[in-house]
Amino acid sequence: MANFGWSYPAGCRSTPYDEPAGPCDVCGQDVDSDACICPECPECGGCGDSRCYVPGKCGLVRSPEQLQARADAEAAWKAEADAERLAFELDPPETW
Ligand SMILES: [Zn+2]
Ligand SMILES: [Zn+2]
Repeated sequence: MANFGWSYPAGCRSTPYDEPAGPCDVCGQDVDSDACICPECPECGGCGDSRCYVPGKCGLVRSPEQLQARADAEAAWKAEADAERLAFELDPPETW
């Protein structure tokens, strides 16, 4: 079965001091690994903050690259969710 990267084994990877920042709100890429391609907001200094892109806020506009990156990320999340659901249906845990 295909495995799409980040699945965290229960209880052994994360520590309270090493919280993953999670994917960028805007481009969907990993903020921690500098994969995020979003520019710094000239208004508030935020980076990858979807609020900066709300009309009437900071005035940032998503670039085609950001939209494409986001679409790619969503496709990967969806594939991962589908794979998990399929695994669950094929092999449901006895207790949940
Ligand atoms: Zn980003
Ligand atoms: Zn901003």
